[in-house]
Amino acid sequence: NFQFPTYFIAILITITRLISTIGKPKPWTNLLPQKLSDKFLDDPESIKLASSDYGNLVQEIPAAIFNPSSINDIMSLIKFSHQSSIPFNIAARGQGHSTRGQAMVRDGVVVDMAHLRKQRNGRGIEVFEDSSTGKFYVDVGGEQLWIDVLHSTLEHGLTLMSWTDYLYLTVGGTLSNAGISGQTFRYGPQISNVDEMDVVTGKGDFVTCSTRNNSELFYTVLGGLGQFGLITRARIALEPAPKRVKWVRMLYNDFSVFTKDQEYLISLKGKNQSHALHYLEGLLLMHQGPPDNWRSSFFPLSDHSRIISLVTKHSIIYCLEVAKYYDDHTQNTVDEELQVMLQGLNYIPGFIFEKNISYFGFLNRVRSGELKLQSQGLWDVPHPWLNLFVPKSRISDFDSGVFKEIVLKRNITTGPVLIYPMNHYKWDDRMSAVIPDEEVFYTVGFLHSSGFDDWEAFDIQNREILQFCENAGIKVKQYLPHYKTQQDWANHFGMKWMGFTEKKSKFDPRMILSPGQRIFNNNN
Ligand code: FAD
Repeated sequence: NFQFPTYFIAILITITRLISTIGKPKPWTNLLPQKLSDKFLDDPESIKLASSDYGNLVQEIPAAIFNPSSINDIMSLIKFSHQSSIPFNIAARGQGHSTRGQAMVRDGVVVDMAHLRKQRNGRGIEVFEDSSTGKFYVDVGGEQLWIDVLHSTLEHGLTLMSWTDYLYLTVGGTLSNAGISGQTFRYGPQISNVDEMDVVTGKGDFVTCSTRNNSELFYTVLGGLGQFGLITRARIALEPAPKRVKWVRMLYNDFSVFTKDQEYLISLKGKNQSHALHYLEGLLLMHQGPPDNWRSSFFPLSDHSRIISLVTKHSIIYCLEVAKYYDDHTQNTVDEELQVMLQGLNYIPGFIFEKNISYFGFLNRVRSGELKLQSQGLWDVPHPWLNLFVPKSRISDFDSGVFKEIVLKRNITTGPVLIYPMNHYKWDDRMSAVIPDEEVFYTVGFLHSSGFDDWEAFDIQNREILQFCENAGIKVKQYLPHYKTQQDWANHFGMKWMGFTEKKSKFDPRMILSPGQRIFNNNN
């Protein structure tokens, strides 16, 4: 009755594929001009890196890795493929933090944006003041990491307003999706905060675009899953940076009370925004383990046992998480403002916890968890994630059918499960990103980590969740989407699908870019 473990089979497939690429003719490599061919790598180590990602679920072997030293190199590469009789596929690889091979290219070329970042050595981030308006902006290369953007802007006492929870992601990789976090309800996703971009299209053309110039390309690239061009620069507005953050968590056992409070808090605007929060998220606490997860260690150790008792009693506890920033001018008023906002909330009495932390420490809160997992060898494991946008009108059906049925019954979910609402009006429907058609919708993220031989159980659960939503008529949209057929993609984009395909023909007519998304290139 002996069975090979799945990971052993996966390793065998990889080795077989790697061997099959040795000596395989690559018609285009012979034709490359010298200035480009010098920048190619196809040694086993580089190939291995580019054929995996954070998900550790799929593998695609590229023909080569391209190490650009400049934007011109990227233009020459794409132009060369676009003009070849047999074009080859190309994808930018930011940090490779996708989970389903979105930055991979079978038999094509992976552009290593990290190489460009190293070459630019700090020159990819520039803070400046627009003399005509007095406003401050940052011009940031698509290859840069958000953490470096944070460091650079803080040196000027400035900051962006919309972030991701985790900052070791590239600007280009995130803007290709949306870039969401607890700030999204108030400031919109990161794509709503971009003023201008430089893009190298699928024809190899360098185009500067904004809402005023080349606006069609601008809107389509934002949330465009890398289909229309490589983002090489984004301009984002800056604001004065706060110094510190009051970070509060409250626990609920009643889902409808929890969501009512979340929705109330994201509706607050207040005079001069003083009575609006800067950040709001939420998460599930399940199982009897420690209430903290790898993404944030928050609860005081002395409170762990009473929180665990609460979770044991109710099976699921909903945790509302908010933050209010402050600086020297507002340090005397922040507590009162926070109190006004939180009074009247119906969390379980006595289950409110507060932390006071630096602004940088707050934004970079996920990093320490990552380093801990890395030191335990638990970072580079499979990540069968599922991220959804759920319309507000069906969120309670989602709770009863998914959290209370599927998730509790299967009893395998140990990673973080996030749930928090966003305001539709902070998104721009002209952009490619797809969200539910309601004023308020929730993001729900199942951020599973698993062993190499048991990730399929999580994928089965993911499929069950999607099937449940379909059967119940809950019109969810996937965030960081992945689909197998073009029909699924057409359903995902809905009304936007026709425009999406038209713009693909216009900006990447030979279907070269980002085949790992499997939208136009099903052979990848
Ligand atoms: P990659 O995975 O390298 O690429 C993703 C896609 O974008 C590919 O199709 C690629 O070809 C394309 N691409 C890459 N660079 C460019 C470019 N310059 N121009 C055009 N296309 C490009 N997302 C959130 O919104 N909020 C979060 O809080 C958040 N937290 C995360 C935490 C972790 C630990 C991880 C692993 C992911 C998280 N994500 C989050 C998801 C993340 O934003 C996406 O997976 C994003 O694509 C990763 O960026 P990357 O630089 O690794 O892109």
